[in-house]
Amino acid sequence: MNLILFGPPGAGKGTQAKRLAERHSLIQLSTGEMLRAAVAAGTGLGRKAKANMDAGELVPDDLMIALISARIDAPDCAEGFIFDGFPRTVAQAEALDAMLVEKGLSVDSVIAMEVDDEALIERLTGRFSCAECGAGYHVTLQRPSVDGVCDRCGGKRFDRRADDNAETVRSRLLAYRRQTAPLLPYYRAKGTLQTVDGMAPIEDVTRQIESVLA
Ligand code: AMP
Repeated sequence: MNLILFGPPGAGKGTQAKRLAERHSLIQLSTGEMLRAAVAAGTGLGRKAKANMDAGELVPDDLMIALISARIDAPDCAEGFIFDGFPRTVAQAEALDAMLVEKGLSVDSVIAMEVDDEALIERLTGRFSCAECGAGYHVTLQRPSVDGVCDRCGGKRFDRRADDNAETVRSRLLAYRRQTAPLLPYYRAKGTLQTVDGMAPIEDVTRQIESVLA
């Protein structure tokens, strides 16, 4: 099964992709995480992508398409994958279609997560994660049970994404509206698009996605 989780930044794509990947033994392909790893490692891709990411702009399509094309050829993707953050432009979606046809693969479902704009800003500017295990938290919506200690691993160091500041968040939401939202009619026309209410609690959203996939 190959899936696309679609939605604006802060919709909960990463959270749901992790849960679905575990339950269905799929590989989560988060282009944002792949890029952050490339920036941290100082690779050529990371150096090219950093300025766009810092500004809350999209990284050029040719870099993203090359990244995904190489990644889905890896043996661990053979059982299926979940895209989280890709495609983000019509050009990326068209390139993805072409590369999947070439490999004899297809996308089974595109699941769009709908969330109110004000909720997105609050979610993005307040989120942080455990530096040890990556568990996600939020300053008001989801604090660890004991302040300063990760519920999952007991870690005491936490990170915030550099692009989760108010100014960059505004640019990221603008990029979503201008460049990524046009993918909704693209996938609707193909008949693969289904929507879930991303404002519901995490567990409910997972249930909605599972019923879409059933
Ligand atoms: P995300 O973690 O999905 O919010 O992505 C973080 C940043 O990485 C975005 O603001 C973009 O700069 C870049 N990025 C991630 N995925 C893509 C993509 N498919 N196309 C272009 N840029 C991307």
